[in-house]
Order: sequence, then structure tokens, then C-alpha cells
Amino acid sequence: MKIFSQTIIRWYNKNKRDLPWRHTTDPYKIWLSEIILQQTRVQQGMPYYETFAKKFPTVHHLANAKEDAVMKTWQGLGYYSRARNLHHTAKFISKELKGKFPNEYEAIKNLKGIGEYTAAAIASFAFNKPYAVVDGNVFRVLSRYFGIHSPIDSTGGKKEFTRRAQQLLDKKYPGVFNQAIMEFGALQCVPHNPDCGKCPLKKGCEALAKNKIAELPVKSQKTKVSIRYFNYFIIKKNGKTLIKKRTENDIWKNLYDFPMVETKREMKKPPLNPLLQRGLVGFNSSPSGSLGSTFKHVLSHQIIFAKFWEVVGLNSNLKKPIQRAHKKIIYVSDNQLYKFAFPRLIQRYFEEKGA
Ligand code: SF4
Repeated sequence: MKIFSQTIIRWYNKNKRDLPWRHTTDPYKIWLSEIILQQTRVQQGMPYYETFAKKFPTVHHLANAKEDAVMKTWQGLGYYSRARNLHHTAKFISKELKGKFPNEYEAIKNLKGIGEYTAAAIASFAFNKPYAVVDGNVFRVLSRYFGIHSPIDSTGGKKEFTRRAQQLLDKKYPGVFNQAIMEFGALQCVPHNPDCGKCPLKKGCEALAKNKIAELPVKSQKTKVSIRYFNYFIIKKNGKTLIKKRTENDIWKNLYDFPMVETKREMKKPPLNPLLQRGLVGFNSSPSGSLGSTFKHVLSHQIIFAKFWEVVGLNSNLKKPIQRAHKKIIYVSDNQLYKFAFPRLIQRYFEEKGA
């Protein structure tokens, strides 16, 4: 056990990347970096971390920011619930805790948007508390080195890996050990074709000895993916475009898109009726056709096929009651659109249009 931990830390000290959040023990900055890096590669997350840290240097700055500003800063990073939770938790820490970040694992874990992994990361990196992190990299390293075949997505498997990581943890330098094992998984024991010849752990590695590297770690379930068909309507008036805020409990909550009708299959003709009923277009409206090809947009659990229908001859004046019913619908001129946070799919539409 000790040899494993010492080897990993020695390797880390020689090979670690110079990342900005490794130069601080400020729990706010560490929390920011950890939330950004969930489901995001370091290279993609780095500029977002720099921007957030500059725009919102303290938890109070983030708490006092407008929600649209937070979402706009997050735009393009995906998994937008992370941004909403980040903002919610910043407000909680700023107001209820007077800006003091909790320093106990349980209290950290109770914050919205923080699970076991993130709580252990913050507790160990910021406060040097002895909690082992278990993320995708750690699962891979442990399953291969110790030859553990328990599925990493089962309750029993998770417990087993957490127990093992906790036993291995260097109690004196838990933060360094946690960084080291994750970095080892990210750079050395990579998912495909790791360079085992160069690995300092090769002597004791079960997966290498038994030729099981490609099999480990084991996952029991395949991710279920649902297919959805979105029909977007581009409605213009006096050079302005109608956009709306997504307020439903669905993907991209609190980001902006266009009036949309979801259908069970891909449509050859635009499904205008729901828009007529919602009063968003008039009876003399006719779509001028969909824009080019269907856009395919792949998310982790969903594949979206989107069509963009341009509508002409609409009943352009939204009547007062309709405006009230659609509080989050607004006309925006083309040169102001950049101020709003759109999901990547809508950005792709703008790019195709040359906007
Ligand atoms: S020998 Fe290969 S599989 Fe084993 S820990 Fe090292 S890199 Fe990973």
C-alpha cells in the first residue's frame, strides 16, 4: 500500500501539469475549478476557470451577479445545471454563511451541486482533510493496478473503490495524494493503450500481468440515450428576432433559444399549429422552409435532431395577454443577440447563418 502511494506521489512531483488551481488553497477557487472540470477536459475548462476567477474573484461577486451573466459566462461548457447550482451555492455561502466556505467534509457535501467526489476534493485540497477522491481516473488506476472487476457504476463497486482509495490515502498529505492519483490516471494510466513500459507501477500491476487492461474498469450499464426532434421557429419583426428563455425543467434551463415545438419524429412540414395556439404567429403565417439540413446534436443522454423553420407573414404584434403569458419571450436585434446565453446547438445555427 505504502509503495503504491509513494510511487504515485513521486511520479506526480516529476510529471504534474502546471494548472492555475494548483497554486491556491482558496476553497472558493478550488470549488470553481472542480465544478468546471466535472465532465469537462482540462484544456476546455481552463479558459472558463480563468474567466470566472477574473469576473467573479470572490464568492460575493458570484453571488451578486445576475443569473444571465453567470449563464453567459458558462456558455459552451454544457451541463448547465452546474452553473445554476454554482450560482445558488454562491448566494447561500455569501448570505447565510457570511462568505465563509465550510471546512468540514459533511458541510461541504451538503452544498447544492456538490457530491462525494467534489466534497473530498475541496476538503483535501483546501483544508488538507483526509478524504480520498474517487473519480473516473481513480477508478481506472485502482481497477487495473489491483485487478478489481466490481462494476464502477454499482453501489457495491463504488463502496469498494472508495474503501480502497481511503486505505491508500496519504493521511499527512491527502491533497497531494489525491491530485497525484488523478493526474496519474489522466496522463499515464489513460483509457486506451497506456504506455505500460514507462509506468512506475508496472511491477505490481494486475491488469498488465493478466493482460486485462482493455477490460478494466468494468461498467455494468450502458447509458440510455433518448432521441428528440426539435422544430425551431425563427420569427422576425422589424429586423429583430424572437427569442425565449428556457424555464422548464429540461436541458438548457435558463438559457435562450427560439420558440420551439418538439415532435415524435422528424417533420417534413413545419408543425405550426401549436404556435398558432400559443399566439406566437398569426393565421396568415407561413414558414418559408427549413434552413438547410437537419442539425444533429449529441449530448451524453440525448441525441437531438433540430430543424430551423423561418416564418414569414406573421401576425407580428404580440398582444398584451400573449406577452404576459410568455414573459420570457423577447424581440432582440441581431447586434444584441451576443449578450444572451445560447446552447451550443443554437450557436451552430447562428454560425451556419453567418450571424
Ligand atoms: S502498468 Fe499500465 S495498466 Fe498498470 S497502472 Fe501502469 S499504466 Fe496502468
